[in-house]
Amino acid sequence: MGKMIDRQRFDEWYNEIVELADLCDKRYPIKGMNIWKPYGWKIMQNIDAIIREEMEKTGHNEVYFPLLIPESCFKKEEEHIKGFSEEVYWVTHAGGNELEERFLLRPTSETALYSIFSLWIRSHADLPLKTFQIVNTFRYETKMTKAFIRVREIHFFEAHTCHENFEDAERQIKEDLEIAERFFKKLCLPYVISRRPDWDKFAGAYYSIGIDVLMPSLKTLQVASIHQYKQNFSIPFEIKYEGRDGKHYYCHQTTYGMSERILGAIVGIHGDEKGIKLPSSIAPIKVVIIPIIFKGWEERIMEECRKIKEKIEELGLKCHIDDRDKTPGSKFYDWELKGVPLRVEIGPKDIENGVISIARRDGIKKKMPVNEIEKLKEELQEYDKMLYVEAEKFLKENTHIMKEIEGKEGIVELPWCGKEECGKKMEEELDMKSLGIPLPQKECNEKCAACKEKAASWLRLAKSY
Ligand code: ZN
Repeated sequence: MGKMIDRQRFDEWYNEIVELADLCDKRYPIKGMNIWKPYGWKIMQNIDAIIREEMEKTGHNEVYFPLLIPESCFKKEEEHIKGFSEEVYWVTHAGGNELEERFLLRPTSETALYSIFSLWIRSHADLPLKTFQIVNTFRYETKMTKAFIRVREIHFFEAHTCHENFEDAERQIKEDLEIAERFFKKLCLPYVISRRPDWDKFAGAYYSIGIDVLMPSLKTLQVASIHQYKQNFSIPFEIKYEGRDGKHYYCHQTTYGMSERILGAIVGIHGDEKGIKLPSSIAPIKVVIIPIIFKGWEERIMEECRKIKEKIEELGLKCHIDDRDKTPGSKFYDWELKGVPLRVEIGPKDIENGVISIARRDGIKKKMPVNEIEKLKEELQEYDKMLYVEAEKFLKENTHIMKEIEGKEGIVELPWCGKEECGKKMEEELDMKSLGIPLPQKECNEKCAACKEKAASWLRLAKSY
């Protein structure tokens, strides 16, 4: 297995590899708005397909709301405006006319959906309402932008649900965590879950849960968030239902959000000096065949390649023959860069021996008899497992459970009394940000690392993107 990228070089490596691996083009003349190239977009669509499958399985229905939100809708929830006011793009003109009411480009869609949910929901029979959409959102980032990780036009997934009561909304959050578990396993991404501290929860949320991964730079990256809104939005948006007793109640709401950052996490966590490594679940090409041409064997070899491709596609694996007029070595280089899980080489010796030569993107090489070709599926499973195991090892090695504040890198967990000032003190002394209370919550019988009073929980901290 190729080694993870050295942490000092990571950011530089990342910025180059996203273009070298043909995922995006950063030359569009608006900063932070990149072009999805066909290969990168296909991977993202494969990620979305896994999300859609999970949504379908859990009874969520897909919607697609307009991009523009009237200012009056956006302003209904006070905390929400405060949280986003510095980050929104405004539309002020249409043609030559100044608009009477300004519109904003959605930074997230609560305020667009909820003004309509209040029309859709009438009775308890309409609940739970479980919807999601996959759309672009816009945030005016002022920090340095970074492909997939910090961009101004974001490919975004958001699930929004409405419930009769708090308990039912809590059950939804439990379901969201189960969805996340299945979803990230398919992408071979280990993660940590934290309940965000109150000073860092989502604008308008009752509480927020963050799902973070650890990048080779030893900074964490938030790849998903789940919010319990209680009735914080349903009251200003008047999302009410008639209960079983004939009285009217405000709904309880939750959201679950993810974005193209997931692709950033895959690039970073599974990358090495040769390029990216795609989990088989999302690789647009799962097997690439490289003909090893020798003089006099040209036709024979190409014929064998086509035969093998057919067999591989019968297994349901997307396969591509690289018949470009280039040396095998330069083809290996290209496909390793793009993270194709399996490479199959076919040369005269292989044909004579009735085998194919296999090279997994994680470095494992072997010969496989052609009549056992269905074993390629096992190779892919084994490869995915290795991706996960390596990433998990890295996460564990760089998580430090400590009693005192001391300089460490990666993820740190310290005993915490729960007071904001103590959390802030830890942040300052470690030069890190609080990710929050580790979930599922672990017992803590220690003293707060800041004030030495009895700790109520652990506090997880890290440097993050
Ligand atoms: Zn304290």
